[in-house]
Amino acid sequence: MKILKNVFELNKAVKNYENVGFVPTMGGIHKGHVSLIKISQKNNKETIVSIFVNPTQFNQKKDFKNYPRNIKKDISILKKLKVTYLFLPEVNEIYKKRLKNFKLNKSDRILCAKFRKGHFEGVLNVMNRLLSVIKSKNVFMGEKDFQQYRLIKKILGKKYKINIIGCPTIRESNKIALSTRNKLLNKSSIKAASKIAIKLNKLKKLSQSGKLLDLSKYKNELENKFKIKIDYLEFRDEKKLKLNNFNSKFRLFIAYHINGVRLIDNF
Ligand code: AMP
Repeated sequence: MKILKNVFELNKAVKNYENVGFVPTMGGIHKGHVSLIKISQKNNKETIVSIFVNPTQFNQKKDFKNYPRNIKKDISILKKLKVTYLFLPEVNEIYKKRLKNFKLNKSDRILCAKFRKGHFEGVLNVMNRLLSVIKSKNVFMGEKDFQQYRLIKKILGKKYKINIIGCPTIRESNKIALSTRNKLLNKSSIKAASKIAIKLNKLKKLSQSGKLLDLSKYKNELENKFKIKIDYLEFRDEKKLKLNNFNSKFRLFIAYHINGVRLIDNF
């Protein structure tokens, strides 16, 4: 695996992107990332993974500082997977150019965009910068972060004329979605998060069978039972993320705070 620390090294190493899949990450590599890498490897001759903890997408400095990092372990996992290239730039390398910021439409200011002001503007900003140098035609992103995947597909997929490919969420056997942030959870939070995931999966199934559910009731119940604060618990359709559109394929979206950690998931 070639480790490329800046755009100069990247351009020297990768001359032709015809058959190079791209998997952007913030590191803390886990089985969720690994599944994206394997899908990329299946569909492309070579795969480039980036690890970049993007400061502009964190609303709080503390959250950015506490974000779990373990680059040595990440490199060893990626080497074992036979990833072709790892792009590992510093913040200054990515942000040295002045570029116009993205602004979300009113209809996109929903779910996490409503509760984490500036978050997706930061995500779009960094993905725009990464895609302007990593010229892959196929970019693999997780449905775990469904709103992020849809926004990037809509805005940057179009801009760069590339395929943004959504890949299924990988879960632990206790049904918690793999996430780098899970490393911040204590034992009791893990137990609660597991029960919450199982419950939400059941609610999704119930609604699929045609039952109309009062989500505000379940929101209160979950908050009281597990001592969590829920930002949102909403059914939205997969294409446009419109509320309660049960005629198209839909998902149940949640974001909640448990013991100082914010988790998101969808079912
Ligand atoms: P992150 O490092 O958290 O920014 O994630 C990098 C990529 O991995 C994003 O496209 C995520 O949606 C994806 N990802 C994170 N967790 C999972 C998971 N449990 N299953 C599938 N993809 C995931």
